[in-house]
Amino acid sequence: MNSQPEPHILFTGQEIEAAVKHLAGEISQDYHDKHPLLIGVLKGSFMFMADLIRHLDFPLEVDFIGLASYGKGRQTSGKVRVVQGLSSPIKDREVLVIDDIIDTGLTTAFLLDYLRQKNPASLKLCALTDKPSRRQVPMTIDYLGFTVPDKFLVGYGLDLDQEFRNLPDICFIEDED
Ligand code: 5GP
Ligand code: MG
Repeated sequence: MNSQPEPHILFTGQEIEAAVKHLAGEISQDYHDKHPLLIGVLKGSFMFMADLIRHLDFPLEVDFIGLASYGKGRQTSGKVRVVQGLSSPIKDREVLVIDDIIDTGLTTAFLLDYLRQKNPASLKLCALTDKPSRRQVPMTIDYLGFTVPDKFLVGYGLDLDQEFRNLPDICFIEDED
């Protein structure tokens, strides 16, 4: 029988809050007078986005984009498509992408390319977590919360087959044998 995997805490809600505040400070310095558009990558970034913008005390707008990379479970296939588009144009906007995790980098590389073709004034990347050991394409992360080991993460918005997004901590799940 399939037993439910058990999540182990990697970063507590308190540690996440401190990291999010720190990121918000950096983003505020760079964007306070730029009226940026923050684009959250669904679904994994929804909690991060909500917590982050609470600490941004200047005019900004929020949008979301939904991406699917074919495949289920713990693997990214690398073939990405947009399943939920942006609700407004980004031409000449100062765009900051808010992502949950950069793993191989394939999904984010696709997204940045897709957005760049729409001619924003600027395009930068903020990621809650980075798993550099698995990178397949080079990627500059302008604002980063945590560097994480090569483990499958859940919680704080991150899922395993749509479960565990509601955990307040960032947790890891042991490898399948
Ligand atoms: P990449 O294209 O960089 O390999 O992966 C992009 C997407 O795969 C992430 O945005 C996330 O949705 C998913 N992903 C990669 N690693 C993890 C992980 O450890 N946990 C979860 N829940 N999703 C992951
Ligand atoms: Mg993602």
